[in-house]
Amino acid sequence: MKIAILSRNSELYSTRRLKEAGELLGHEVDVIDTLHCYMDITKSRPAVRYDGAELPQYDAVIPRIGASITFYGTAVVRQFEMMGTFCVNESVAISRSRDKLRSLQLLSRKGIGLPRTGFANKPDNIRDLIKNVGGAPVVIKLLEGTQGIGVVLADTAKAAESIIEAFMGLKANILVQEFIQEAGGADIRCFIVGGKVVAAMKRQGAEGEFRSNLHRGGTAEVIKLTKEERVTAANAAKVMGLNVCGVDILRSNHGPVVMEVNSSPGLEGIEMATGKNVAGMIYDFIEKNAQPNRTKTKGKG
Ligand code: ADP
Repeated sequence: MKIAILSRNSELYSTRRLKEAGELLGHEVDVIDTLHCYMDITKSRPAVRYDGAELPQYDAVIPRIGASITFYGTAVVRQFEMMGTFCVNESVAISRSRDKLRSLQLLSRKGIGLPRTGFANKPDNIRDLIKNVGGAPVVIKLLEGTQGIGVVLADTAKAAESIIEAFMGLKANILVQEFIQEAGGADIRCFIVGGKVVAAMKRQGAEGEFRSNLHRGGTAEVIKLTKEERVTAANAAKVMGLNVCGVDILRSNHGPVVMEVNSSPGLEGIEMATGKNVAGMIYDFIEKNAQPNRTKTKGKG
């Protein structure tokens, strides 16, 4: 098949791995820089142009859209959808997952386990906001943060109030969340392909760090999921409408709780920790599903 990976950087581990794994399986794989795609939306026949020429009709597109280019990146994915190209994750699902509030609202509506969470822009009663999620300690998150930046643990109600006031002063949207202490600074990344958990790893934060992000010095190891965790992760992916994603869950004393669903999950950590060929599984999924005009949205979302 002829497959395009939409990625800003062909040198990134995940991009390289996807290209290599696809070629090994006999596919023709091009890495296309998302921001360098341009589109002519006045024509009745939608197309994507790149470096002076029209891109060929691909059988499938693997979008790897970074958080900083969500707006333009999803427009490019949408254009491929309008051309009837099978996109591993659809543009609407990617946009949905990028909005932490929207994601949590959708997940809660479907009854998926979540940490107790409040969100606010300019609360008149900060104390009530804190009390409402169970009181200190609480985790306060900037809505726009990634890789653990903008995620703060406040041990006392006083500290929480000051942090919330400071964020409010910056006009930032925030989440206030129950601190899942019993998770012990670890979270579980479930890698989903085609609605199933295909690999899972436990990420442990560095000594004294409650955030387990690998970018923050966390370490990863393979883990066996409980049935409940497996079902929770698969359901979260389904609610978000993502075929390939990473679902991050915490082990809380009220069962598994979903923290985040990531539409461009990294391959390095999960493949190293589990020894599984996750990139290959993404191609299995493409081979089974990529037929022209299989995108449900057809660019209407
Ligand atoms: P980001 O999207 O920036 O990575 P997350 O919301 O995933 O932010 O938080 C980063 C890390 O902080 C998580 O992987 C987890 O280890 C820890 N963490 C986040 N929220 C909580 C919470 N409510 N209770 C305990 N730990 C948390």
